[in-house]
Amino acid sequence: MAKVHFVGAGPGDPELITLKGYQLLQTAGVVIYAGSLVNPELLNYCSEDCEIFNSASMNLIEIIDEMQRGVEAGKEVIRLQTGDFSIYGSIREQVEELKKREIEFTCTPGVSSFLGAASSLGVEYTVPEISQSVIITRMAGRTPVPAKENLRSLAQHQTSMVIFLSVQGIKQVVRELLAGGYKPTTPVAVVYKATWPEEKKIVSTLEKIADEIIAEDITKTALIMVGDFLGDEFYYSKLYDATFPHEYRDAKKND
Ligand code: SAH
Repeated sequence: MAKVHFVGAGPGDPELITLKGYQLLQTAGVVIYAGSLVNPELLNYCSEDCEIFNSASMNLIEIIDEMQRGVEAGKEVIRLQTGDFSIYGSIREQVEELKKREIEFTCTPGVSSFLGAASSLGVEYTVPEISQSVIITRMAGRTPVPAKENLRSLAQHQTSMVIFLSVQGIKQVVRELLAGGYKPTTPVAVVYKATWPEEKKIVSTLEKIADEIIAEDITKTALIMVGDFLGDEFYYSKLYDATFPHEYRDAKKND
Protein backbone atom coordinates (compact mmCIF):
# COMPACT_ATOMS: atom_id res chain seq x y z
CA MET A 1 0.00 0.00 0.00
CA ALA A 2 1.39 3.40 -0.96
CA LYS A 3 1.94 5.94 1.80
CA VAL A 4 2.43 9.62 2.46
CA HIS A 5 5.99 10.52 3.43
CA PHE A 6 6.77 13.74 5.25
CA VAL A 7 10.31 14.70 4.29
CA GLY A 8 12.44 17.52 5.67
CA ALA A 9 13.98 19.30 2.68
CA GLY A 10 16.77 20.96 4.64
CA PRO A 11 17.46 24.71 4.76
CA GLY A 12 18.12 25.33 1.06
CA ASP A 13 21.30 23.73 -0.29
CA PRO A 14 19.94 20.74 -2.27
CA GLU A 15 22.74 18.55 -0.92
CA LEU A 16 21.51 19.07 2.63
CA ILE A 17 18.56 16.69 2.30
CA THR A 18 19.14 13.31 3.98
CA LEU A 19 20.02 10.29 1.86
CA LYS A 20 16.69 8.77 2.88
CA GLY A 21 14.80 11.90 1.80
CA TYR A 22 16.66 11.89 -1.53
CA GLN A 23 15.76 8.25 -2.16
CA LEU A 24 12.12 8.92 -1.33
CA LEU A 25 12.05 11.79 -3.86
CA GLN A 26 13.46 9.44 -6.51
CA THR A 27 10.59 6.97 -5.99
CA ALA A 28 7.85 9.57 -5.58
CA GLY A 29 4.72 9.52 -7.75
CA VAL A 30 3.46 12.77 -6.24
CA VAL A 31 5.36 15.57 -4.51
CA ILE A 32 3.63 18.37 -2.62
CA TYR A 33 6.27 20.94 -1.73
CA ALA A 34 6.18 24.17 0.24
CA GLY A 35 6.97 26.47 -2.66
CA SER A 36 7.72 29.62 -0.70
CA LEU A 37 10.75 28.13 1.07
CA VAL A 38 11.80 24.79 -0.41
CA ASN A 39 14.56 25.05 -3.01
CA PRO A 40 12.93 23.93 -6.31
CA GLU A 41 16.26 22.37 -7.36
CA LEU A 42 15.36 19.49 -5.05
CA LEU A 43 12.62 18.57 -7.53
CA ASN A 44 15.33 17.58 -10.01
CA TYR A 45 15.73 14.42 -7.91
CA CYS A 46 12.20 13.34 -8.91
CA SER A 47 11.40 11.15 -11.93
CA GLU A 48 10.06 12.67 -15.17
CA ASP A 49 6.51 11.46 -14.58
CA CYS A 50 6.26 12.61 -10.97
CA GLU A 51 3.30 14.95 -10.38
CA ILE A 52 4.35 18.10 -8.57
CA PHE A 53 2.16 20.43 -6.51
CA ASN A 54 3.15 23.67 -4.83
CA SER A 55 1.31 23.86 -1.51
CA ALA A 56 1.73 27.66 -1.28
CA SER A 57 -1.66 28.19 -2.93
CA MET A 58 -3.44 25.18 -1.36
CA ASN A 59 -5.41 24.92 1.87
CA LEU A 60 -5.17 22.02 4.32
CA ILE A 61 -8.06 20.03 2.87
CA GLU A 62 -6.81 20.48 -0.70
CA ILE A 63 -3.41 19.15 0.41
CA ILE A 64 -4.93 16.14 2.17
CA ASP A 65 -7.25 15.44 -0.80
CA GLU A 66 -4.25 15.42 -3.14
CA MET A 67 -2.40 13.05 -0.79
CA GLN A 68 -5.40 10.71 -0.70
CA ARG A 69 -5.80 10.76 -4.46
CA GLY A 70 -2.12 9.88 -4.92
CA VAL A 71 -2.08 7.06 -2.38
CA GLU A 72 -5.30 5.57 -3.78
CA ALA A 73 -3.69 5.57 -7.24
CA GLY A 74 -0.86 3.51 -5.73
CA LYS A 75 1.67 6.38 -5.76
CA GLU A 76 4.15 7.24 -3.02
CA VAL A 77 3.29 10.80 -1.99
CA ILE A 78 6.05 13.03 -0.63
CA ARG A 79 5.17 16.07 1.44
CA LEU A 80 8.38 18.08 1.15
CA GLN A 81 8.73 20.72 3.85
CA THR A 82 11.44 23.24 4.50
CA GLY A 83 14.12 22.51 7.09
CA ASP A 84 12.64 20.00 9.47
CA PHE A 85 8.85 19.70 9.76
CA SER A 86 8.99 19.53 13.57
CA ILE A 87 9.77 23.27 13.71
CA TYR A 88 6.88 25.51 12.53
CA GLY A 89 6.01 22.80 10.02
CA SER A 90 2.21 22.63 10.52
CA ILE A 91 2.62 18.87 10.38
CA ARG A 92 0.34 18.12 13.34
CA GLU A 93 -2.84 19.13 11.54
CA GLN A 94 -1.83 17.16 8.43
CA VAL A 95 -1.12 14.06 10.54
CA GLU A 96 -4.49 14.34 12.30
CA GLU A 97 -6.33 14.61 8.98
CA LEU A 98 -4.45 11.58 7.59
CA LYS A 99 -5.34 9.55 10.68
CA LYS A 100 -9.02 10.44 10.22
CA ARG A 101 -8.84 9.05 6.69
CA GLU A 102 -6.74 6.04 7.78
CA ILE A 103 -3.92 6.97 5.41
CA GLU A 104 -0.54 5.67 6.54
CA PHE A 105 2.47 7.96 6.70
CA THR A 106 6.18 7.99 7.49
CA CYS A 107 8.42 10.87 8.59
CA THR A 108 12.00 11.55 7.51
CA PRO A 109 13.69 14.44 9.31
CA GLY A 110 15.60 17.28 7.72
CA VAL A 111 18.27 19.81 8.69
CA SER A 112 16.41 22.72 10.23
CA SER A 113 17.40 26.22 9.14
CA PHE A 114 18.60 27.06 12.65
CA LEU A 115 21.22 24.34 12.21
CA GLY A 116 22.05 25.50 8.69
CA ALA A 117 22.51 29.04 10.01
CA ALA A 118 24.83 27.88 12.82
CA SER A 119 26.92 26.00 10.25
CA SER A 120 27.11 29.07 8.01
CA LEU A 121 28.52 31.04 10.93
CA GLY A 122 30.61 28.15 12.26
CA VAL A 123 29.21 28.57 15.76
CA GLU A 124 28.05 26.43 18.67
CA TYR A 125 24.80 27.34 20.47
CA THR A 126 25.96 25.55 23.62
CA VAL A 127 29.36 27.07 24.36
CA PRO A 128 30.65 25.55 27.64
CA GLU A 129 29.88 27.72 30.66
CA ILE A 130 28.31 30.46 28.49
CA SER A 131 25.04 28.84 27.52
CA GLN A 132 23.80 25.28 27.71
CA SER A 133 20.24 25.76 26.45
CA VAL A 134 18.73 26.95 23.18
CA ILE A 135 15.36 28.66 22.97
CA ILE A 136 13.63 28.37 19.62
CA THR A 137 10.81 30.83 19.35
CA ARG A 138 9.08 33.48 17.23
CA MET A 139 7.34 36.73 17.77
CA ALA A 140 3.55 36.85 17.70
CA GLY A 141 2.32 38.05 14.33
CA ARG A 142 -0.80 37.14 12.37
CA THR A 143 -0.61 33.82 14.19
CA PRO A 144 -0.40 34.16 17.97
CA VAL A 145 2.19 32.90 20.46
CA PRO A 146 0.94 31.77 23.90
CA ALA A 147 1.24 34.73 26.32
CA LYS A 148 3.48 32.80 28.72
CA GLU A 149 6.10 32.50 25.96
CA ASN A 150 6.44 36.15 25.02
CA LEU A 151 9.91 37.19 23.92
CA ARG A 152 10.42 39.48 26.87
CA SER A 153 9.95 36.68 29.40
CA LEU A 154 12.05 34.18 27.42
CA ALA A 155 14.81 36.79 27.21
CA GLN A 156 15.17 36.65 30.98
CA HIS A 157 16.99 33.32 30.67
CA GLN A 158 19.84 35.08 28.82
CA THR A 159 20.60 31.87 27.00
CA SER A 160 21.07 31.22 23.26
CA MET A 161 17.97 32.17 21.31
CA VAL A 162 16.94 31.55 17.74
CA ILE A 163 13.98 33.58 16.58
CA PHE A 164 12.12 32.36 13.50
CA LEU A 165 9.52 34.19 11.38
CA SER A 166 10.21 37.59 12.96
CA VAL A 167 12.82 39.53 10.97
CA GLN A 168 10.13 41.78 9.49
CA GLY A 169 9.57 43.06 13.05
CA ILE A 170 13.24 43.40 14.00
CA LYS A 171 12.70 46.68 15.86
CA GLN A 172 10.07 45.17 18.07
CA VAL A 173 12.18 42.03 18.61
CA VAL A 174 15.06 44.20 19.81
CA ARG A 175 12.76 46.21 22.11
CA GLU A 176 11.42 43.04 23.70
CA LEU A 177 14.84 41.47 24.15
CA LEU A 178 16.20 44.61 25.79
CA ALA A 179 13.13 44.85 28.02
CA GLY A 180 13.72 41.22 28.99
CA GLY A 181 17.20 42.05 30.23
CA TYR A 182 19.71 41.46 27.42
CA LYS A 183 22.43 44.12 27.40
CA PRO A 184 22.49 46.47 24.33
CA THR A 185 25.95 45.07 23.52
CA THR A 186 24.71 41.45 23.35
CA PRO A 187 25.86 39.86 20.09
CA VAL A 188 23.19 39.15 17.46
CA ALA A 189 23.41 37.50 14.07
CA VAL A 190 20.83 37.57 11.30
CA VAL A 191 21.21 34.93 8.64
CA TYR A 192 19.14 35.35 5.48
CA LYS A 193 18.58 32.25 3.32
CA ALA A 194 21.16 30.15 5.15
CA THR A 195 22.91 27.67 2.80
CA TRP A 196 21.35 29.20 -0.37
CA PRO A 197 23.67 30.86 -2.92
CA GLU A 198 22.15 34.25 -2.00
CA GLU A 199 22.78 33.77 1.73
CA LYS A 200 23.58 36.91 3.77
CA LYS A 201 25.07 36.94 7.27
CA ILE A 202 25.05 40.00 9.48
CA VAL A 203 26.79 39.83 12.83
CA SER A 204 26.24 42.80 15.11
CA THR A 205 24.88 43.80 18.52
CA LEU A 206 21.36 44.31 19.81
CA GLU A 207 21.71 48.09 19.73
CA LYS A 208 22.81 48.18 16.08
CA ILE A 209 21.17 45.24 14.34
CA ALA A 210 17.79 46.76 13.44
CA ASP A 211 19.28 49.56 11.34
CA GLU A 212 21.63 47.14 9.58
CA ILE A 213 18.81 44.74 8.70
CA ILE A 214 16.64 47.55 7.41
CA ALA A 215 19.57 48.91 5.34
CA GLU A 216 20.09 45.45 3.81
CA ASP A 217 16.34 45.23 3.12
CA ILE A 218 16.02 41.82 4.77
CA THR A 219 12.32 41.29 5.46
CA LYS A 220 11.84 37.52 5.28
CA THR A 221 13.47 34.05 5.24
CA ALA A 222 15.91 34.96 7.98
CA LEU A 223 16.73 33.87 11.49
CA ILE A 224 17.67 36.12 14.37
CA MET A 225 20.24 34.50 16.65
CA VAL A 226 20.92 36.17 19.98
CA GLY A 227 23.22 35.53 22.88
CA ASP A 228 26.71 35.43 24.27
CA PHE A 229 27.40 32.19 22.39
CA LEU A 230 28.21 34.56 19.51
CA GLY A 231 30.60 36.60 21.66
CA ASP A 232 34.31 36.50 22.32
CA GLU A 233 34.16 34.80 25.70
CA PHE A 234 34.36 31.03 25.64
CA TYR A 235 35.76 28.09 27.57
CA TYR A 236 37.12 24.80 26.41
CA SER A 237 34.88 21.82 27.07
CA LYS A 238 35.81 19.22 29.68
CA LEU A 239 35.06 16.49 27.15
CA TYR A 240 38.39 16.87 25.34
CA ASP A 241 40.38 18.23 28.30
CA ALA A 242 43.44 15.98 28.66
CA THR A 243 43.24 16.21 32.48
CA PHE A 244 39.54 15.31 32.63
CA PRO A 245 39.03 11.54 32.76
CA HIS A 246 35.82 9.91 31.60
CA GLU A 247 34.43 6.54 30.64
CA TYR A 248 36.44 6.33 27.41
CA ARG A 249 39.66 8.06 28.41
CA ASP A 250 42.01 8.14 31.42
CA ALA A 251 43.41 11.41 32.72
CA LYS A 252 46.78 12.48 31.41
CA LYS A 253 49.06 13.86 34.10
CA ASN A 254 50.19 17.48 33.74
CA ASP A 255 53.89 17.44 34.65
N1 SAH B 1 10.59 24.06 9.32
C1 SAH B 1 11.49 25.15 9.00
C2 SAH B 1 10.95 26.49 9.49
C3 SAH B 1 9.68 26.92 8.80
S1 SAH B 1 9.10 28.47 9.33
C4 SAH B 1 12.88 24.84 9.56
O1 SAH B 1 13.08 23.80 10.21
O2 SAH B 1 13.80 25.63 9.29
C5 SAH B 1 9.80 29.54 8.14
C6 SAH B 1 10.87 30.40 8.77
O3 SAH B 1 12.04 29.63 8.93
C7 SAH B 1 11.32 31.59 7.93
O4 SAH B 1 10.48 32.69 8.12
C8 SAH B 1 12.68 31.85 8.50
O5 SAH B 1 12.60 32.49 9.77
C9 SAH B 1 13.17 30.44 8.75
N2 SAH B 1 13.95 29.90 7.62
C10 SAH B 1 13.61 28.87 6.81
N3 SAH B 1 14.62 28.61 5.95
C11 SAH B 1 15.61 29.49 6.24
C12 SAH B 1 16.93 29.72 5.73
N4 SAH B 1 17.43 28.97 4.75
N5 SAH B 1 17.67 30.70 6.29
C13 SAH B 1 17.19 31.45 7.29
N6 SAH B 1 15.96 31.28 7.82
C14 SAH B 1 15.19 30.31 7.31
